[in-house]
Formats: sequence, C-alpha cells, structure tokens
Amino acid sequence: MMVLFAASEIYPYAKSGGLADVAHSLPEALRELTEIYTVMPLYNQVDREKHGIVYADISFNYWLGGVRHQFDIFHKEDSRTELFIYNPIICDREGLYHDSYGDFGDNELRFGLFNYAILELILHMRLPVKVLHLNDWQTALTALLAKQKYRLDLKVVFTIHNLAYQGVFDKNAMETLELDWDACFKPDRLEFFDRVNFMKAGIFYADAVTTVSPNYAAQIQTPAYGQDLDEMLRQNNHKLQGIINGISYDTFDPATDEALYKNYSVKKFENRSKNKKKLCKEQGLAEPKRPLFTFIGRLTGQKGVDLLLQNMEAFSELEANFFILGSGEKHYEQIFKEFENRFDNIKIYLGYDEVLSRQLYASADFLLMPSHFEPCGLNQMIAMHYGCVPIVSLTGGLADTVLDFKQTLKPHKGAGVGVTFEDHNGWEFYRAVTKALSLFSHGKKFEKIAKRNMEIDFSWAKPAKKYLKVYR
Ligand code: ADP
Repeated sequence: MMVLFAASEIYPYAKSGGLADVAHSLPEALRELTEIYTVMPLYNQVDREKHGIVYADISFNYWLGGVRHQFDIFHKEDSRTELFIYNPIICDREGLYHDSYGDFGDNELRFGLFNYAILELILHMRLPVKVLHLNDWQTALTALLAKQKYRLDLKVVFTIHNLAYQGVFDKNAMETLELDWDACFKPDRLEFFDRVNFMKAGIFYADAVTTVSPNYAAQIQTPAYGQDLDEMLRQNNHKLQGIINGISYDTFDPATDEALYKNYSVKKFENRSKNKKKLCKEQGLAEPKRPLFTFIGRLTGQKGVDLLLQNMEAFSELEANFFILGSGEKHYEQIFKEFENRFDNIKIYLGYDEVLSRQLYASADFLLMPSHFEPCGLNQMIAMHYGCVPIVSLTGGLADTVLDFKQTLKPHKGAGVGVTFEDHNGWEFYRAVTKALSLFSHGKKFEKIAKRNMEIDFSWAKPAKKYLKVYR
C-alpha cells in the first residue's frame, strides 16, 4: 500500500514547530510498515547541498487563472522516497509562512499551488498512491482537489496538528484557485464567515480525520476549544479520532545526543548532573544544586506565556534557577527583553536554538508547560525521555501523557509522571511550581520519577501502527 505523506515543513529541512518533527518521525516509523513517500516545498532556506537534495529530472507546468506555473521535482540522493517541489512563488521567500511584516499576502496562492502540484506529481511520476496523508491547512485543499477535481482513486487522511491555524482567506481565493463555487462554497464545506477556510476542506473531503491526542479530539468538538469549527467537527466526528504523537528516538536520545556535554541513560543517571553543572556555569546561573526550571517553546498565547510573565517576580524570589528559551510574537519578546538580566536566577534567551534546547532538556530538573491548549505537545515527552520532570496544565495531549505525582507515583505505558494543575491561572501555576520544589527536596523520590519517566515508551512504534490501521 503506497502512502504519500504531504506537509509544509519536515525536519531537518524546514521547521517552525512540532509539525516538522512529526512529519519527519512518523513517516520514518511507517517506512518499516509500508511503502511511504514524503513531499514538501523546497524552500530557499533548505540547504540542498548539506542534505544531498538533487533534481529528479522531472518538471511540469500547471496553468492557473491563465498563468503558467512551473514545478521542478527534487529528491534526496540517498532516499528517493523523500520528494521536494520547487516553484518560485512557493519557495523564494524568507520564512515559511511569514516574515517580520506578518503573513505573506499570497499564502492562499502559494499553498494552493503546492496542493495542485502534489496531485500533478502523483500523475507525472505515475505513483500508485493508495493513501494520501495530508497535514494541517497548508495541504488540506489537496483533499478537495483529489476528490472533486482530479477524482483520483485513493483515500485521503487529514491530520489536524493545531486547529488554531486554519488558513482563512478572502473568498476571491475561490477564483484564484479555480475552485467550484457552487459545489464548495457552503458552510459545511469551505465557507467560513463569508471567507474561505482551507482547514475545512481537509475535514470535509478527507475519508478519515485524525488529530494528535485523544483528549484534543474530544476537546475540539466543544465551543471552548473548537475555534469556531466545533460544530463542523461534531458533524464529522464519525471519521475523527485522536492518535497521540511520538518522538523520534533516533533524534532524541540522551545516550547519544551530540549536543550534550555528557551523555547519560537510566543506568548512568549520575552523568546527567554534569550537564546541569556545565550549563549553569556557562550561563552564569548560581548554585547548580538548586532546582532548574526551563521553558522551551514558541512565545504565543497558546503556550501560556502570560502565566509565565505574571510569575516572573515571584519566581525570582524562589531558591531555584529558571531558563526561558523561546521565540515568537514580538510583543512577548519585547516584554521578556525587559526582564533580561534583571534577576540573577532567571536567564532568558530569545531565539530558536536546537542545540541549547537539547542541553536544557538534559540539564533542567523541571519543564514548564502551562499551555492554555495543547493538541499533543512534544516538549513534555522529550523532557520525560531526558529525565526532566514536566509541570503541565491539564489540557489536550498534556493530560494524556502526564499524570500527577500526588495521584500516582507509577507511570503507565503511555504516560509519565509530573506536576499537573487544572485551573488555568497564574496562581495555580505558581502553586504547581512550589509543589515541584517540594518534590525536588525529596531527592530520592524525585530521582525515581525522573528515571521511570525515561523508560516510558514515547517512541513512534505504537502510534505508527495506529496510523497504519487508519490507512487500511
Ligand atoms: P508547537 O508545534 O506547538 O510549537 P510542540 O510541543 O508540538 O509545539 O513542538 C515544539 C518543538 O519545537 C519541540 O521539539 C521543541 O523542543 C522545539 N522548540 C520550540 N521552541 C524552540 C526554541 N526556541 N528553540 C529550540 N527548540 C524549540
């Protein structure tokens, strides 16, 4: 059964968030189980030389609105099932979806073209694709095109990685992309408050819709989490299910991770603290014996950055160190800048730094994840695999993967142990941090939890089998 997995970003070629991680590691796990191709745009910033990406000797044109668009197909030299599409409108940009001025004004055309190109590629390469696996709004329109325009004999699976980003555009996009007004511009299909919503095309036209945790699958059918699509999701819930993400054990393994100062495992757990000592020294954080808390993530409302900011002064008074690594919305970055160098025990690094993030997972005692909503969340799983105990709000995939240490000390197959809080406010978050401090003071108990978490299976082995079942 041949599967074509399409995404707008795939690690390590281009990444803006968890989608890229999943689009790398899920196909990697599925390769053991079925024949799978991946496809993404060959953006300017993808380093062709470093990754050995070469022209596949395939180019084709597609005429849209009287304009000829050319697409060139590339592949990895050593892995021909990894495909890339180059077209100047899609790829010749700084940034994937936006630059410092905001979202690109022609994203509907860019990703519309990418979606046409995915289907043209199937035809030009004569790939006997049985299942087309689409991800998020950037590839959602392919579901409509495959079913309604190309009428291909294949099944479509659409995965929602984050319902907050839906790809909503002016209805003129219907003309630009030559879509059928009468058939598609309806409230239960593409229409969204008199605009066009790409995500809706994925939900309506796909044969199966998945999202990245069972709890999020339930939550998005409610008005509180449905981002105005809850009614549509309830109408389509016969084909909706949640499958928890995994993490790539090849990419994330403290025993082999080259970013670390000292590699470690459960058996060599004592090596872990050497990373913390080195990091604290390098970053000018005093007394490495104190507990170290870290936040690693996009600085957006979703991640509960407001709760972090509310507590900065209070955290500065605790006998603990804090390290915040993040980039994102300008106004948040501005506020964090004001906090930079203000407190001896709080270090702020604004930017995206893969190596530093790994060193933090390997050094910190606790990961802070006070998200307002979280489809699955990868950070908490990476953290647990690195022996860093997560402090999470009980939402989405966080509730599926982290149990509270007060309720249970025993992690089970799919979930580890951390500190959880339910009422989403600054005070409850602060309380969770103080509970973590008290847990840390019980050294043995803390270490036992950290070590047990490292042994939970957060790999893709089980989720990949569930996806295979969906394909079948
Ligand atoms: P989302 O996709 O919502 O951003 P996830 O938890 O699914 O969140 O995935 C986030 C991924 O991005 C993790 O691998 C995390 O370590 C990484 N990450 C986020 N922000 C940064 C940063 N500033 N520097 C390095 N890695 C980051």
